[in-house]
Amino acid sequence: MQLPNTVYLIDDEAEMVELLSELIELIGFEAKGFTQASVFFEQVQVFAAGSVLILDLNMPEMDGIQVMRRLAGMLNPPALILVSGHDAGVLNSAEKLCEAHKLELIASLGKPLALDTVRTLIRKHMNRSLSDESLQANSNIINIEPHEIELAIEKNELVLHFQPQIAVATGMLTGVEALVRWLHPVHGLIYPNSFIEIAERHGTIDLLTQWVIKAVVNQEKEWLSKGLTITVSVNISAENITSLTLPEQLSKLLEDNKLDPTRLILEVTESALMGELVTSLDILTRLRLKGLQLSIDDFGTGYSSLSQLHKVPFTELKVDKSFVGKISVDDEARAIVKTCIMLGHELNMKVVAEGVEDEETLEYLRLMGCDVAQGYFISRPVPEDELLNWLRSRP
Ligand code: C2E
Ligand code: MG
Ligand code: MG
Repeated sequence: MQLPNTVYLIDDEAEMVELLSELIELIGFEAKGFTQASVFFEQVQVFAAGSVLILDLNMPEMDGIQVMRRLAGMLNPPALILVSGHDAGVLNSAEKLCEAHKLELIASLGKPLALDTVRTLIRKHMNRSLSDESLQANSNIINIEPHEIELAIEKNELVLHFQPQIAVATGMLTGVEALVRWLHPVHGLIYPNSFIEIAERHGTIDLLTQWVIKAVVNQEKEWLSKGLTITVSVNISAENITSLTLPEQLSKLLEDNKLDPTRLILEVTESALMGELVTSLDILTRLRLKGLQLSIDDFGTGYSSLSQLHKVPFTELKVDKSFVGKISVDDEARAIVKTCIMLGHELNMKVVAEGVEDEETLEYLRLMGCDVAQGYFISRPVPEDELLNWLRSRP
């Protein structure tokens, strides 16, 4: 496997390129610096997986925005660290463009650059490229036909992994998020990014969610018999909140299995609330009346307005990992997370931070008064037996 170790630099200030190149080589990666974007494109046509480009936005010849546009048309473009001496507004718009071009953004930084931050960001990114489950998942995207998902459910090829959530203040386990995977007989473990969307588009998502909920119910019963009482969070798609009888079905299932409905948390994304708000509001409100908890997932990335957040009776707010992951290096991300925590608390919601990848981030969350943390630093999503081992190994 080729190591993802090249960091490209484009900045019209030669001293800057020199300084950053030295820094990058000091931490053990190869640096390739350019003072003109056109020369960069002449010399580099192919990128190794996981490479990084530190890109200055303000350059006289071809500026950073033009560079991003060209990169978007290339195969396997590098992840970006954007740099600009302009105000935060310019960087924000550049970030939006990055997203629109489907380029991976590591961070955007103002000038003068804090070298420590650059070092931390690159180290973090390189470590992650080697181990990130979702990157691995993306790199082996396979062609899945809609009916195969239905067959997989029938043949019981889906499995659940559980990712622990801990109370930030005490470190105690409070609950788990159930994340579905497909144990494919030929392709091995397939991650949800490769099949959930297909299931949603082809009407298989109801079947899939039913399978997940049944599996979670059985799991909760088993944990309960072992004296483990924790919450379990399940991800629900927009397509699932269209059936008006969903609250009754779920509530009956929990009752039949003698499970406390308050320990089941349904996670909904902001964008799931974009469509038929009347129907989903009806269903979500009755789910709450039946005692289940509702969580707004990936908060901050959707397009719903704050008033929608106020209308829907959520009990939990999950701050998106794209902000959480940057709080130790990015002032704006930190401000956003802090505001989300305050907002959640003002609306009487429990606030969960997802994507906690290091101790420093957890420490920031502690200072900000966040309630619950979830992320690779605590544990990756794991099969049930590994979860129990993880739990036993904790002080
Ligand atoms: P999500 O609900 O936001 O779940 C969190 C995702 O972030 C999971 O990816 C998890 O493995 C990953 N993650 C956890 N900690 C970290 C971290 O520290 N750093 C980083 N970079 N990532 C972290 P996963 O399992 O691949 O799931 C992706 C998405 O697929 C989920 O995002 C959820 O939207 C969807 N999904 C998963 N299971 C189900 C399901 O049963 N039903 C439905 N409808 N959607 C599901
Ligand atoms: Mg989730
Ligand atoms: Mg999420």
